[in-house]
Amino acid sequence: MMSTTDSTNEKDFSNLRVDLHSHTNCSDGALTPKELIERAVNFQIDVLAITDHDTVKGLDSAKQTIIDKNIPLTLIDGIEISTQWQGFEIHIVGLNINTEHETLQALISAQQQRREARAISMGEKLTKCGFNDVYSQAKALAGEGSITRAHFAKVLLHRGIISKMQAAFDKYIGKGQRAYVNPNWCSIEEAVAVIHAAGGVAVMAHPIRYDLTAKWLRRLIVHFKAAQGDGLEVVLPQMNNEQRKIMLSYCAEYDLHASMGSDFHQPSRWSDLGRNLVMPEQAKPIWQLWQTQAMS
Ligand code: AMP
Ligand code: MN
Ligand code: MN
Ligand code: MN
Repeated sequence: MMSTTDSTNEKDFSNLRVDLHSHTNCSDGALTPKELIERAVNFQIDVLAITDHDTVKGLDSAKQTIIDKNIPLTLIDGIEISTQWQGFEIHIVGLNINTEHETLQALISAQQQRREARAISMGEKLTKCGFNDVYSQAKALAGEGSITRAHFAKVLLHRGIISKMQAAFDKYIGKGQRAYVNPNWCSIEEAVAVIHAAGGVAVMAHPIRYDLTAKWLRRLIVHFKAAQGDGLEVVLPQMNNEQRKIMLSYCAEYDLHASMGSDFHQPSRWSDLGRNLVMPEQAKPIWQLWQTQAMS
């Protein structure tokens, strides 16, 4: 696998368009890594992290596209690791990781096995709901990439069993529903430790999206901090000002850095690469962590 160029670490991102959370079709995104890079160029993104679910597969071809077309884009090697905490599924983004690191590769293999086992079991439950062959179709959609519940939702949508993706989670594959399967993801501590071992920084993805009460969200952030987590995503396209203020206050209180990203999956009316992403002045940007590492 190609290594990250030195310029990644030296550039000051403060005045650049930065998006540190995006997906390709190596997990549940719609675009190939090449198409994602081309879209990033069209949207004038300067710094992009590709953070597919439990895989780093897309990064090589993204890098190759940048080289082939001599594109002025800084690519950050990333991943979004699914974890489990107190029965909640919490996503931890790793940024500026060494994708070849052995410990990281071992965790990726374990997570891929969990994804496969869960997918088979979800397929069996969906068969009991009266829907045959959903697993094989979802598997075909996922191809070589990470198989996710989004692939299952797409199959149910294409068959007309549901009328929008969200309904698949609400009726069948969301927590507590008939075809939900406990995924047995790794712990937050393990994800953070592996990201650190691979030289990266660990960010809690979209803290507002876990449907937690204020009390539980604080508990989660305390746990993440105790597990040596580095930062929170405080800037997301769907976040309102009030939510952003709360996330910034958690960053200040627990001495966490701030990250921002679109969580781009496909072109949509609600979000796109780099849209509405501005780092608040009072925040400590997450990239300072790897930029200071590089200087010291
Ligand atoms: P997985 O990581 O396999 O559990 O798949 C979850 C993915 O499905 C997420 O990364 C989202 O992109 C997508 N998704 C869409 N709606 C929901 C929802 N209501 N709950 C969880 N995931 C959702
Ligand atoms: Mn996703
Ligand atoms: Mn996520
Ligand atoms: Mn994501």
